[in-house]
Amino acid sequence: IKKIGVLTSGGDSPGMNAAIRSVVRTCAYHNIECIGIYRGYQGMIEGDFKEMGPRSVNNIVNKGGTILKSARSLEFKTPEGRKKAHENLVNAGIDALVVIGGDGTFTGAELFNNEFGYPVMGIPGTIDNDIYGTSHTLGYDTALNTVVECIDKIRDTASSHNRLFFVEVMGRDAGHIALNAGIGAGAEEILIPEEDLGLERLLESLQKSKASGKSSSIVVVSEGDKIGKNVFELKEYVEEHMPEYDVRVSVLGHMQRGGSPSCFDRVLASRLGVKAVESILEGKSNYMVGLIQDKVALTPLEQAIKGSSKIDEELLRVSDIMTT
Ligand code: ATP
Repeated sequence: IKKIGVLTSGGDSPGMNAAIRSVVRTCAYHNIECIGIYRGYQGMIEGDFKEMGPRSVNNIVNKGGTILKSARSLEFKTPEGRKKAHENLVNAGIDALVVIGGDGTFTGAELFNNEFGYPVMGIPGTIDNDIYGTSHTLGYDTALNTVVECIDKIRDTASSHNRLFFVEVMGRDAGHIALNAGIGAGAEEILIPEEDLGLERLLESLQKSKASGKSSSIVVVSEGDKIGKNVFELKEYVEEHMPEYDVRVSVLGHMQRGGSPSCFDRVLASRLGVKAVESILEGKSNYMVGLIQDKVALTPLEQAIKGSSKIDEELLRVSDIMTT
């Protein structure tokens, strides 16, 4: 292995830049050339490559987003697109690939590896933390801190006006962001896709909390929650059944994906980048590097894609007790 390519793909997340920096510098440390591939798989198909040295990643450890840009590439889903991408890599003398992204990115990488026997290594980058084989994905910790900060601010208004707020947070089909940020911000109720609270129990719980003397409430709702109503319908439903409540909705949206990465995400990105490059140099391929019980560890890409990241039962219990 003389030359390694690195790309970011799918949704961006804070910490991706720190991971790029780590891959580039680990390559330099081992006297390997590193090539940045712009706009994910689309840039691979178009040959949008740039040589990167340790100084080309100065001052990015603290930056959100990704300097290599990200893209969703439909062309890479076709055999012709992948063939073109493979030719470009071979022509540029790139021997292996580090891909930073989520599920879809790994699915593409695994397919590419199966088709061409091309060495690939994945780094999980998504705020949703919905990937098997790592306790934390890059950007998740930063997103949690962003969400907690926002909810703290919303609470100021909620308590000043005796209001009930439904705060919708990201997470796709996983409730990790909602559950953790909900506990961290002291939410009265947390609605996540993994647990169906049901509308009646939600009402009961709100009524109980009102009766116990609480004058304001924050309910954190995961975007993938299966209660059967979106946050705006939830607001109408609760207003209809509890007219004494003044209900507001806040959808946090894309601010959750941006911002300067937390120290945790920067350190994680640095560790995963080192492990990804060094694993390739040891001849390994088709794995994702992740964090398991605080240690950097490899999981076969196939398992990372197929497995699901479970919600921690202990955390659910803690949440139940905290919302009493
Ligand atoms: P996020 O979780 O943030 O959405 P992701 O990596 O899951 O990140 P996707 O858009 O699903 O994001 O995937 C990124 C890219 O991976 C796609 O644009 C496509 O180029 C490639 N990809 C996804 N699925 C496949 C597939 N089945 N075959 C080949 N390539 C794929």
